[in-house]
Amino acid sequence: MVTAVAYRLASQRKQIDEILASFQLSMENLIEVKNKMREELEYGLKKETHPIATVKMLPTYVCGTPDGTEKGKFLALDLGGTNFRVLLVKIRSGRRKSVRMYNKIFAIPLEIMQGTGEELFDHIVQCIADFLEYMGIKGARLPLGFTFSFPCKQGTLVGWTKGFKATDCEGEDVVDMLREAIKRRNEFDLDIVAVVNDTVGTMMTCGYEDPNCEIGLIAGTGSNVCYMEEMKNIEILEQIEGKMCINTEWGGFGDNGCIDSIRTKYDKEVDEGSLNPGKQRYEKMTSGMYLGEIVRQILIDLTKHGLLFRGQISEPLRTRGIFETKFLSQIESDRLALLQVRRILQQLVLDSTCDDSIIVKEVCGAVSKRAAQLCGAGLAAIVEKKRENRGLEHLKITVGVDGTLYKLHPHFSRILRETVKELAPHCDVTFMLSEDGSGKGAALITAVAKRLHNIDKY
Ligand code: BGC
Ligand code: MG
Repeated sequence: MVTAVAYRLASQRKQIDEILASFQLSMENLIEVKNKMREELEYGLKKETHPIATVKMLPTYVCGTPDGTEKGKFLALDLGGTNFRVLLVKIRSGRRKSVRMYNKIFAIPLEIMQGTGEELFDHIVQCIADFLEYMGIKGARLPLGFTFSFPCKQGTLVGWTKGFKATDCEGEDVVDMLREAIKRRNEFDLDIVAVVNDTVGTMMTCGYEDPNCEIGLIAGTGSNVCYMEEMKNIEILEQIEGKMCINTEWGGFGDNGCIDSIRTKYDKEVDEGSLNPGKQRYEKMTSGMYLGEIVRQILIDLTKHGLLFRGQISEPLRTRGIFETKFLSQIESDRLALLQVRRILQQLVLDSTCDDSIIVKEVCGAVSKRAAQLCGAGLAAIVEKKRENRGLEHLKITVGVDGTLYKLHPHFSRILRETVKELAPHCDVTFMLSEDGSGKGAALITAVAKRLHNIDKY
């Protein structure tokens, strides 16, 4: 009897370990990811392959970082992260340079994220109206910077990612859509100066403090990187002098199958159940919006095999999106006793035993560790490229970072940094947390655009 139980436990443990092992990446795996990423970066920069590259390498037309002389009052919008926000940003220049911000978070209901484009932009303008009212600045006609955290090519939306799927927006000019919605409302006017990716806003915000910051990383709901590239390497642009910020859109890495050998059946299930199947495969292995989904798929599988939750697949476990980043972060916190893990699972209406909570914690750990390592391997490719660009033996560089996963998860940032260190030993990388890159960055870029051109860009 005792041996039968012991045998069953050992075999269960073996099954669990096998699943967890499929998430473990060897040094070799990681080096391969770094090398593949490097190849895809080059494809994206080359003229012939740029149009079909999976890592899109989009020019941002941002050529400089703030120099501290920017000033003024700006409105900023932040769409595409955990929250939608409208901000008022006041920038002071000179010796007492400073940035002050007032912001308000607005909800975007799911029906609007996935409704029509007109509804989405009408809703955004409604939120701006509420904010202007709330701040008492309705008649001001301030310059506006729009942090729009989706892939854009010369101002037009290439494709929605993450939780968005509003109709009639892809291929359209983002500024036009916003302008038309402002016109439809016919209540106030705004001077829309710049549309900015969140990675660029993050790099700019950190660049404001540290001129050595030439990379912006987001590890949050989505995953992406931008960096300053030599003009001469950006083949689709004629100029050869100077540098320009490239939005890599590295979330699409792997969409041609080049990292399929490390994708698990759970990754494939998450992809198939997503709003954009086949797209953003790397993002789906590395960002907050999907990690919980991977965990959920594993838990379902374990339960089906009778290894978890007494073999009962409950309704919540069937529900997409229940494991938000904040739950993963809590479950993996070292300060949390197992009893508390059980409480979190109970909050999610998952009735667990003590053994269950140990297993759930292990699953979360395996998934988030792989995410951080993959992200680190990608970043290693970027810093190595920058080092080679400059023909240096050794590169010292700062990466501006933002995103809920990086900021809230108990282990993600450490594992990411360790991986970069191992895979890019000739680079000395400093990570600088951005203080609200999405909001501040949009305002700073708007200010730079105003300073450089002193005209409306659009
Ligand atoms: C988007 C990027 C964005 C990233 C982080 C991705 O889904 O495609 O444009 O920078 O998420 O928000
Ligand atoms: Mg953000």
